[in-house]
Amino acid sequence: MITTDVVIIGAGPCGLFQVFELGLLGLKAEVVDSIRQPGGQCSELYPDKPIYDIPAIPVCSGEELTERLLKQIEPFDCGMHLGQEVQVVERQDDDSFRIETSAGKKFSAKAIVIAGGVGSFQPRPLRLPNAGDFADTSLHYRVRDPAQFAGKKLAILGGGDSALDWVLELVDAARHITLVHRRDEYRAVPDSVQKMRMHVASGKMDVIENARVTAISGEGSQVSAVTIQPKDGDTTEISVDHILVFFGLVPKLGPIAEWGLDINRKTINVDTENFETSEPGIYAVGDINYYPGKKKLILCGFHEAALAAFAIKQRLEPGKKVHVQYTTTSPILHQRLGVPD
Ligand SMILES: Cc1cc2nc3c(=O)[nH]c(=O)nc-3n(C[C@H](O)[C@H](O)[C@H](O)COP(=O)(O)OP(=O)(O)OC[C@H]3O[C@@H](n4cnc5c(N)ncnc54)[C@H](O)[C@@H]3O)c2cc1C
Repeated sequence: MITTDVVIIGAGPCGLFQVFELGLLGLKAEVVDSIRQPGGQCSELYPDKPIYDIPAIPVCSGEELTERLLKQIEPFDCGMHLGQEVQVVERQDDDSFRIETSAGKKFSAKAIVIAGGVGSFQPRPLRLPNAGDFADTSLHYRVRDPAQFAGKKLAILGGGDSALDWVLELVDAARHITLVHRRDEYRAVPDSVQKMRMHVASGKMDVIENARVTAISGEGSQVSAVTIQPKDGDTTEISVDHILVFFGLVPKLGPIAEWGLDINRKTINVDTENFETSEPGIYAVGDINYYPGKKKLILCGFHEAALAAFAIKQRLEPGKKVHVQYTTTSPILHQRLGVPD
């Protein structure tokens, strides 16, 4: 059990900046995100695209913004728990919260900030009636242990970076790989596509383009074959031991919808004075919240994070006045930031 002041759900730009605002006020935070890298939409959906409306940064990419935010929160040494979804939030008798993730990690926190954006990113599933029978045994949406594919026949589905990265990573160890892609153009970086084509030319693997997997057969949870339907042409069945599906990620509000909060469609209603939700002690900032006039912009989320931090400080230290201090001149803020006076 990790005990902390605040658990922040979501490591998108607003969750990261929330760490900073809490840190300035002397509060410790732990951040949890269901994806494996911080940055939320900025790193998952548009890492290379330029952003032009971050104050005082004329232009930066999604990835660069994430790097800058991570640098900015370094002094506060927050715990970062990636690749796991927050599933359980329970209020305790002393008004603190028990939080549990899909990886079984447990936290005790005095407050929670939900910075969950458009929800937690989940792999887009292979939509076949019996796909669930094989999931996690011989049909995979992420690779946990590459060694399990050594000497096996694999069907890898998709045309993005994840699909191509795993083709290249596993091509030597696997017995055989068939890459199945619904188009003949790839979203993956051209260098990976070129390397894949070289492996096909040398006979190490096959690629079937403009085609879809239309059926899976097998026994129990073990796949034995997939049926592939090309756009033009006859179906083929190939024998496989594992199917790896990389169709990209889709956001889902997921467990957040079950925590008893006042939900407005897929967003959480908040009070604009303090960004608290309908549950005292649980705050929401960034794309996930709703209030009249809400704009889903990063700079709006930054403002919300600042006000939420002040409200949390007040909640944790009732009766004490929380003063605004300037980072330029305040010795205590310099101390917290590790800036020599
Ligand atoms: C293509 C594109 C371009 C954009 N350009 C701009 C721009 O130029 N300027 C601008 O201001 N905005 C832009 N935006 C919008 C901007 O990216 C969002 O406003 C911003 O990312 C919201 O930040 P956030 O931290 O609230 O949420 P997100 O970035 O969505 O991050 C939320 C994180 O929470 C995680 N999460 C959710 N639920 C859970 C859970 N239960 N457990 C664990 N983790 C969870 C998710 O995995 C995700 O990583 C753009 C968006 C897109 C898609």
